Amino acid sequence: MRVQDNLAQIMTQISAACEKSNRQTEEVTIIAVTKYVSLERAAEAVQAGVTHLGENREEGLLAKWEHLQDKPTWHFIGSLQSRKVKSIIDKVDYIHSLDRISLAKEIDKRASHKINCFVQVNVSGEESKQGLEPDALIPFIHDLMDLSNIHVVGLMTMAPYTSDETVLRKCFRTLKELQVQVQQLQLTYAPCKELSMGMSNDFSIAIEEGATMIRIGTALVGE
Ligand SMILES: *Cc1c(COP(=O)(O)O)cnc(C)c1O
Repeated sequence: MRVQDNLAQIMTQISAACEKSNRQTEEVTIIAVTKYVSLERAAEAVQAGVTHLGENREEGLLAKWEHLQDKPTWHFIGSLQSRKVKSIIDKVDYIHSLDRISLAKEIDKRASHKINCFVQVNVSGEESKQGLEPDALIPFIHDLMDLSNIHVVGLMTMAPYTSDETVLRKCFRTLKELQVQVQQLQLTYAPCKELSMGMSNDFSIAIEEGATMIRIGTALVGE
């Protein structure tokens, strides 16, 4: 399938989810997750009008960045080792996987300007998942106070791999509630306006529950 055709189908689904939840389609940004696919396929996505690309590994990001440079907006969505921060920091516009203070310190140190970060939360509690426990979120946000290059634009989560709508909805709803808690702190370094949640299998539900950035790989560019 051409990316263009997949994109058209996804846009239709986004419209439907927005309609159902009384939201505007402009509130939802599609991040094309290109981690499984070739540079050519990533370029095809940009050609088709996708303006945000996401990669989850340093190698994949650097290889595609080399060719596409700053044509798209770049998102780093995978778990990030502190020693890899240096090589990606000037190439990405958003980091979705901030989940520990040591990583925040490294980002703060290596950055030459404020970095847009999502704090990743492990809402589902699955052991295999990265992210802070929900209870640790607010203390963590406070701990970021002195790191002047960290700008918390939002929260990110990965839902459990299930087709159980109740479970998915509960997960996304919890992230939304946590977002409200962070917003109530009214910290200038943590406006927390965005919610990065929803992937190929669950983005419609995520949108209904308030997602502003959905990360789509398989359904958009293929696996
Ligand atoms: C791979 C990946 C995605 C996209 O997954 P699909 O199911 O292929 O849409 C989204 N977010 C993260 C963090 C990923 O690693």
